[in-house]
Amino acid sequence: MKYPLQYLVALSLVDRRQDDLEDEFGDLPQKIKEKKEHYKELESYVKETQKVLEEVRDFIVKSKKALEELKAREEKLSKQQFMVRNNKEFDAITREIEFARSEFNRISQELQLTSLKEENLVNVLEQQKQEAAEALKELQEYERDYELIATNQNDELKEIKEARQKIIEHLDKHTLEFYQRIRNTHKDAIVKVKRNSCTGCFSHIPPQKIIEIRNNLDKLYTCENCGRILYPEDLEIDSEYIL
Ligand SMILES: [Zn+2]
Repeated sequence: MKYPLQYLVALSLVDRRQDDLEDEFGDLPQKIKEKKEHYKELESYVKETQKVLEEVRDFIVKSKKALEELKAREEKLSKQQFMVRNNKEFDAITREIEFARSEFNRISQELQLTSLKEENLVNVLEQQKQEAAEALKELQEYERDYELIATNQNDELKEIKEARQKIIEHLDKHTLEFYQRIRNTHKDAIVKVKRNSCTGCFSHIPPQKIIEIRNNLDKLYTCENCGRILYPEDLEIDSEYIL
């Protein structure tokens, strides 16, 4: 082929094939991204609850130990009460016993509330774990779907890469960049002129411009309305550059 225009058309056909392959993934990449974030969030809830539960259980263990100690202390003091030598000593021990009992009651009540809290946290944790596990399962399903499509596309992607390489060897950097810039806005960066219209945006192309396009295949013309590169309907493309 003689003109960059012809190679650009071939390149566009190859790029469109690749676009189609990307389209096969549909909204899977977005879904995977969202599901990943959701799973991460649920995981952080689980960790947070586990941490609180650990603290609560630690408190319970310590409280139970404190209760045992208070009980032992009370028993010991009760025995001592019988061995006092005067009222002063008796009153002092009585006050100590009362203090031990009131401490025992205070901690007992606290322990009761904390045990309820523990029970509640165990339920919450169970639910959070279940939600996280479900999210992970959904994420893995999406990822499997993605992998399946990607694996199926492997051979075709390789062909596309090779075809693309073969074509761009015939295009200079400036032309390629010009094409890529248009492709940022329009995936079909280069389109036919058909029935006096741009087939990208369907706006009218003046006959004089169509003649110019036909007579100057070495130049690149763009649609004044959409900016796509235009090429004549009957432009020939060598089959060796078409996938
Ligand atoms: Zn147009």
